[in-house]
Amino acid sequence: MATFKAWVIDRVADGQRLAFRDFDEADLMDGDVTVRITHSTLNYKDGLALTGRAPIVRRFPMIPGIDFAGIVETSQHPDYAPGQPVLLTGWGVGETHLGAYAEKARVPGDWLVPLPEGLSPEHAMAIGTAGFTAMLALMALEHHGLRPEAGPAVVTGASGGVGSIAVALLARAGWHVVAATGRPGEAAYLRGLGAAEILDRTELSGSAKPLAKERWAAGIDAVGSTTLANLLAMTRADGAIAACGLAQGMDLPASVAPSILRGVSLLGINSVTTPIAKRRAAWARLARDLDAGPLAAMTTRVGLAEVGNLAEAILAGEIRGRVVVEMA
Ligand code: NDP
Repeated sequence: MATFKAWVIDRVADGQRLAFRDFDEADLMDGDVTVRITHSTLNYKDGLALTGRAPIVRRFPMIPGIDFAGIVETSQHPDYAPGQPVLLTGWGVGETHLGAYAEKARVPGDWLVPLPEGLSPEHAMAIGTAGFTAMLALMALEHHGLRPEAGPAVVTGASGGVGSIAVALLARAGWHVVAATGRPGEAAYLRGLGAAEILDRTELSGSAKPLAKERWAAGIDAVGSTTLANLLAMTRADGAIAACGLAQGMDLPASVAPSILRGVSLLGINSVTTPIAKRRAAWARLARDLDAGPLAAMTTRVGLAEVGNLAEAILAGEIRGRVVVEMA
């Protein structure tokens, strides 16, 4: 019997139980590509799944972990051959399909992205779902017609995973970046990533007026709730906010005033089911535009055996930047 090491969530009478244990390869789910995982990451959603704080896991037993990079071991898919480096984010991996906190995964090849030229598996997971989402948000703002000449861009949850990469990507693209954070001690870190201004997030977290003084033309929001409502109320005419997260809350106590009086748009970002052509385009641009220096500055590394213990920390907003999980 072939086994590999994995974090496994089982259902128990009073909820779920998490264990780091051997997993039988024969119990992997259907898929035409088997991947030897070399790296994964820790995302906010992983924290929710590992703790059971939100109903992320929809099948038991579940191997959590929503993204991975690795090497194809066996393949019946025409696009993939043994030895090829690949990455995967989303598609319900770690939620409905056995996931990434393991030495092995079997998945439909249509979910994979070939590792782009210039990216190592480790770099790909330093970016991970968080960085991919930040890139989708930047692409959405650009698709809306927004350019740095329009005015500043605000990023919320700036010290977190999505936020850190959003700051770096926006700055690299020429934007004047306003980084909103609850951690004033991370100001130097955020300026190092390219932030031009630091904003105390409490300025954005109170209840929002329908309209407020115009402060930015664009934004990437990882936080939701009253923060997103304030961002919209403070956005310049014809600007837009790309909303991807709910670290503060899932509610949106906003008014239609910014939309109907200033033409402000709310752009929704969903990284889970992004079509494959857009995935490849986003990853190619991440490989090209995310400089190694900022990425290294925001990345810490942990072994597979440690990741299960970091769930509470990411939910508490205590993790800075990105965490890469190393399998070996
Ligand atoms: P992180 O925990 O790394 O970052 C979240 C950041 O939000 C924290 O670091 C903190 O930043 C800020 N924050 C935390 N709690 C609060 C609060 N109560 N009020 C205001 N700000 C808060 O998570 P990720 O970057 O991995 O994910 C960010 C969000 O994006 C999550 O909600 C996640 O689910 C979502 N997401 C959505 C995706 C999609 O496809 N739509 C894909 C990926 C992520 P600081 O200390 O700097 O203020």
